[in-house]
Amino acid sequence: MKPQNDLLSATGTTVFTVMSALAVQHGAINLGQGFPDYDGPEDVVRAAAEALLDNRNQYPPLTGLPELRQAVAAANRRFYGLEIDPNAEVVVTSGATEALTACLMAVLNPGDEVVLLEPLYDTYLPVVKLLGAVPKLVRLSPPKWELPRAELAAAFGPKTKAILLNSPMNPASKVFTAAELAFIAELCQRHDTYAICDEVYEHLTFDGWKHIPLMTLPGMRERCLRIGSAGKTFNLTGWKVGYITCDRSLAPNVAKAHQNLTFTTAPNLQRAVAVGLAKDDRYFTELAADLQAKRDRLSAGLAALGFGVLTSQGSYFVTADFTPLGFAGDDVAFCRHITETAKVTAIPVSAFYAGADAPHHFVRFAFCKRMEVLDEALARLTAWKASRDTGSLAAAS
Ligand code: PMP
Ligand code: GLN
Repeated sequence: MKPQNDLLSATGTTVFTVMSALAVQHGAINLGQGFPDYDGPEDVVRAAAEALLDNRNQYPPLTGLPELRQAVAAANRRFYGLEIDPNAEVVVTSGATEALTACLMAVLNPGDEVVLLEPLYDTYLPVVKLLGAVPKLVRLSPPKWELPRAELAAAFGPKTKAILLNSPMNPASKVFTAAELAFIAELCQRHDTYAICDEVYEHLTFDGWKHIPLMTLPGMRERCLRIGSAGKTFNLTGWKVGYITCDRSLAPNVAKAHQNLTFTTAPNLQRAVAVGLAKDDRYFTELAADLQAKRDRLSAGLAALGFGVLTSQGSYFVTADFTPLGFAGDDVAFCRHITETAKVTAIPVSAFYAGADAPHHFVRFAFCKRMEVLDEALARLTAWKASRDTGSLAAAS
């Protein structure tokens, strides 16, 4: 048989699937893959269920149901002061994953360069490469994950077509500052590039950090393709409803990419997400406050165990350095070890790097879990650590 697609043949199964399967195999608490262990808002779920029963189950319009496009435009106005035409500047997709691919397809030609920031979400690189584009990686470094301005400026050149920016960032849990965004905006304008903005964690920010869409900066309205996800905003990750907001000059190509990927997204879910986006401000404030409390609980517990816990400004995740625990092995070995031994699963942060010399001493924990589950995970890690300490004391005596 002739070889299949080289790039896909060389791409492994996503780390999230691998670690979730390992968690199931070992009966571990899964703090790996980022999904809540509680359901989204009842009124939104009910709206989806009711929408199935009223005979509107055929293909919805290509760019999304009008009520969801209107809700996306209204949310853009309410949260960011962006004026968006729901009929010409919104495309609904099957999750942010499809939205990312559709946006990249919409703007890239083979040979175009795309600036990507490491650590990066796992779908970015394979899709950029499948489209024949050339990734230019710029690395952010822990613990502060500050934007390396000189390196970023050096990554832009005449062939740069786009930057892909993820804020709040997975797994760094960083919210880009206004000054960093202004620096990126200036580069985009100087080099005449687009910005694909993965903003799936837009409403999940903590400690007063406010998400600022790059699209709201002067000169960026026409350049940005802003991606949101109902999965994150309503804690319904299985629904896979995403939405792209972009200028009317970009939306037709995005829609054409979408028509070749999935064409449409389940109509009942679209109708329910429209209900969700219309929820009052309190819902969005409480969503973040609730997650912040979970972040605090897990971060404090991990710190008490000796992990070097990094600040999480937003997202579902906290990153921690396990070096102080004295484990002899890299992050992949550590995650496997705690899954099998402590019965708690995390994600090795090196999985979010493509270049050589990735850090191998950080792991990512998801805290979008019920408090009692976080407590149980911490109890298991505490017992695991105690047995290690006892073991090494016994060995030493
Ligand atoms: N981007 C980032 C940064 C993510 O963490 C995720 C994970 N869900 C996605 C995109 C994909 O979102 P969706 O589930 O809506 O496809
Ligand atoms: N976004 C989720 C995470 O970072 C995973 C989504 C997936 O499994 N593809 O954990």
